[in-house]
Amino acid sequence: MPNRVPMKKNSVDLIWSIGELSSLFEKRTNMGGFLQDVVERIAQHMESDVCSVYLYDEEADTLVLRATHGLNRELVGQVQLRLGEGITGTALKELRPIREARAGKSPRFKPIPNLGEEQYESFLAVPIKRGLNRIGVMVLQHHQSDYFDVQDARAIQAITSQLAATLENVEILMELHGSRAQPEQSVAERQRLFVGRPLSEGIGRGSTVSFGQRGELIHASPVGGGNAPEGCARFEAALRKAQEQLEVLQIEIEDDFADVASLIFNSHLLMLKDDQFSGAMIREIENGASPEQAVITVVNQYVTLFSQSRNSRVQEKTQDVKDLGHRLVRNLSGDPDVEGDYRGQVLLATELYPSELVKIAAQQPEALILQDGGVTAHIAVLARSMALPVVLCRDERLFGLPDGTPVLVDAVEGNVYVDPEQEVIDRYRESLDAIQQAVAVDIPEQTISADRERVHLLANINIFHDARAARKNKAEGIGLYRSEFPFIVQNTFPTEEEQYRIYRQVIESVEGKPVTMRTLDVGGDKILPHADLHETNPFLGFRGIRFCLAHPEIFRDQLRALLRAGEGADLRLMLPMISSVDEFDSACALLEECRRQLADEGIPHNGKPLVGAMIELPSAVEMVHVLARKAGFLSIGSNDLVMYLLGVDRANERVGHMYIHYHPAVLRALKRVAVAAARARCPLSICGEAAADEHMLPFLLGIGIRILSVEPRQLPRLKQLVSRISIRDARGIARRMLSFERVEQVRRYLESNAS
Ligand code: PEP
Ligand code: MG
Repeated sequence: MPNRVPMKKNSVDLIWSIGELSSLFEKRTNMGGFLQDVVERIAQHMESDVCSVYLYDEEADTLVLRATHGLNRELVGQVQLRLGEGITGTALKELRPIREARAGKSPRFKPIPNLGEEQYESFLAVPIKRGLNRIGVMVLQHHQSDYFDVQDARAIQAITSQLAATLENVEILMELHGSRAQPEQSVAERQRLFVGRPLSEGIGRGSTVSFGQRGELIHASPVGGGNAPEGCARFEAALRKAQEQLEVLQIEIEDDFADVASLIFNSHLLMLKDDQFSGAMIREIENGASPEQAVITVVNQYVTLFSQSRNSRVQEKTQDVKDLGHRLVRNLSGDPDVEGDYRGQVLLATELYPSELVKIAAQQPEALILQDGGVTAHIAVLARSMALPVVLCRDERLFGLPDGTPVLVDAVEGNVYVDPEQEVIDRYRESLDAIQQAVAVDIPEQTISADRERVHLLANINIFHDARAARKNKAEGIGLYRSEFPFIVQNTFPTEEEQYRIYRQVIESVEGKPVTMRTLDVGGDKILPHADLHETNPFLGFRGIRFCLAHPEIFRDQLRALLRAGEGADLRLMLPMISSVDEFDSACALLEECRRQLADEGIPHNGKPLVGAMIELPSAVEMVHVLARKAGFLSIGSNDLVMYLLGVDRANERVGHMYIHYHPAVLRALKRVAVAAARARCPLSICGEAAADEHMLPFLLGIGIRILSVEPRQLPRLKQLVSRISIRDARGIARRMLSFERVEQVRRYLESNAS
C-alpha cells in the first residue's frame, strides 16, 4: 500500500467546492489573482504540497505557468512548455491525466531550473479541456511518493472540467491575449528563460551573434574613420591572418569531415584573394573609412547582390561573404588571441543550409539556436554528428537580441538563459565538469542476452565523423551508412571518383567488419538543395530508389563508386524505399551492369556484395516473403515504416502523438517481416529508431530480430539492456504484445511491465 496521509477531503466534497471556486472568480477582477486563489484552494483541499495551473497559448503553441502554490512564484508567466514536453505537456498533448509515483524517475519528467520541484516525488497532471480545445493543465505535486490515487485524478478532472468552462469565458480569454500582447519591455528583464526544443544535445555558453540569410552585416560598436595608410596596413594584416586561419581550418576539418566538408572553405579563400573584393575595401579606406567600416560596406554590397539572385547557389554565398566579413572585423580587433571564428559565441540563426551548419560547426561556436520553422531532418542529424549543441526555439524575441548578449544554452533540456545569473552558470559548470569527469564505461565487444544468445549491435553512420564514435562504442560494424549527406551538404552530385574516396574512407574505418552502405535516399525530408525537387507531398513523391531509378546516370556513378570502395570488404548494399519487387529487380539489374563494366574495365571492385532491401513501406511488408527470397538481407526502416503504416508524420505536432512504435498494426507488420525472413533464411536487421526504444527491445528480440543498428551514442545503453533480457522471456512478451488489439492495451501492458 502506498504510504500516504489519509487527510484529503473526499472527492465529493471537492467537487462540491467548485461552487466555492466560481465565487472566487466573481470576487476577482484579474485572471492572475483568480487562478492564484484557485490553486491555493485546491492545494488546501487535496492536502497537496503543490498545485499549479498552466494555460495553453495556442498561437504560440506553449503552455505557460500562470499560477502556483508551492513552487517559485517568480517564474509565473516565465516557465513555458511545449505540447508533449515533460509530464505536463504530455498530459495536454495526449489529453489524459498522468500520475507518476516518482516523477524524477519518469523519462517524461522535465526539470525546470529554479522552479523548486526537486523535493516533490508524486506528480499528477490533469489536462484542462473543453470539447476539442486544449485549455491548460492542472498539476499537483507532493513530497511523498505515490501520493495521488485514481480517485484524486478523477476529482481533479471534475474540477478542471468545470474550470474549463470558466476559463473559456470570453472576457478571460481576451485578458489572456491582452497579456500576451503587452508591449515588450527589455527582453532580458521580462524573459530571461526561453524554453525551446533540444535538437542536438550539449551545453554551451557565450555571447550571441546573429547568423542569417537576409540581414546585412552589422557591427556591434560604431567605428569611426581614421588614418588611411595606417588603416590599409591594419586591413592587410587582418586579410593575411584570415587567409592563414582559413587554410588551417580547411586542413583540420579535412581529416574528420572529409565526406561532407571537402574544400568547404574554398569559396571564402577565393573571395579573399579576389582583388575586386579586397580592392574595394582598400578603396573605401583610402577614401577615409576605417577598416571596419570598409569591410562592412563592401560586404553589405555583396550581400545585397547575392541575396537578390534567383539562383539558390548564389544566394547561399550570401552567408559566406558575411562570414568572411565577420572574420575580418574580428581580426581587426587587434587582439592576438581572437581567432576570427565563432569560439566563445552562440549563433542565432533563423534558417540554415546543411553546408552552413558544417562550416559553422568547424568554427567551433559554443552552441546554436535555430528558429523552429521548416527545420529538416538532416540538420538535426548533422548537428548531432558534429556534436554541436542546438536548441530550436520559435520565440522571435530571442532572435531580436543584440549581438554580444550573454546566453547559456542547455541543449539537453532545451532551455536558453539570457544574461544568466551566476547561480545558473555555476550549476551548469558543475554538470559540465561531471560529464567531463565521467569514467568511460567498459563497453563489451560482443552483446549477449541474459540467456546467452548472441545479438549484434551495429552503428548508423550519417557522416564519416560518426565512425570514430562507432568504434569507441564497440559497434560490430555499420548497419546503415546514410550516403546522402555528402550530396546534401556539398550541394552537388559528387563524381564517381569523389564518392569512391568518401566511401573507401568509411569502409576502411570498420577494419574488416560488415559495412552496410545505403544507396542515395533523397526526397521526403532529405532535400537536395540543388535538385529542384519541390513537391506538394514529398513523402509520397520522388523518394529514395524512385529517384535513383529515374536517374540511372546518377545511380550508376554511385553504384560503381560503392563497388570499387568495397573491394576486399564485407560490403552490403542496401536499397531504400523499395515499394515493389520490380524496383528491387531493376536496381539489381543496374548493379549487375555496373559490376560487369568494372570487370571489363579491369578496375578492382567487390564482385559479390550482399544486396538488401529496406522494409519501409506497407507494400514492402505485403511482398516481404518474395523480397526475403530474393534479397541478401532485409533491414526494417522503422522510421518510415511507422509513418507510412499509421499515416502519421511525426514532425507534425497535431498528430505526432499518434506516431507509436508499439501500435498493434506496427507490431503485426514487424512480426510478419520477421516470420518471412526466418522462413527464407534471410538475415534481418532493424535500423530505424525503434531499435533503440527500450520498450520495443524485448518485442524485437522476441520476434527473432538479432541485428540492431542504432546511433553510435546509443550503443553502450543498448548493449547493457540486451544483456539483462532473456530471449525466452522476450518471446513471451512479444506474444502478449501481439495479442492486443488496442493501442491502449499495449501501452498499459508496457507501463505495468516497466514498473
Ligand atoms: C528509417 O526509415 O527507419 C531509416 C533508417 O531511414 P531514414 O531514417 O534515413 O529515413
Ligand atoms: Mg527511411
